[in-house]
Amino acid sequence: MAKRKSMSSKMASRKKPAPKLDTTFCCPFCNHPDSVACTIDLKLLVATAVCYVCEEAYHTTAHYLTEPVDIYHDWIDACEQANQGIELQARDYHKRQRRVGSDDDDESDA
Ligand SMILES: [Zn+2]
Repeated sequence: MAKRKSMSSKMASRKKPAPKLDTTFCCPFCNHPDSVACTIDLKLLVATAVCYVCEEAYHTTAHYLTEPVDIYHDWIDACEQANQGIELQARDYHKRQRRVGSDDDDESDA
């Protein structure tokens, strides 16, 4: 009983002054955990996320409410959009290839 009491009081005494948000993240490029560090420059209003393992970096605009996690999520979104863009470009490329072929047929008819 005494043990339980001391344990619970220990837990209660662990008061955090402010909720600490994550400042290091898993890299979207090399998947190394906690390798991405975010910095926010409020003078230039620029936020940077850099992976110290593969040295991949992402820059975005920052404001007074920007948190490291926001930069990281922006980076992930940018990566996903870039990946989708590559896929779309590839699809367009294939479509164009087909169109070029059909255009040639039209020209020969005319
Ligand atoms: Zn990395």
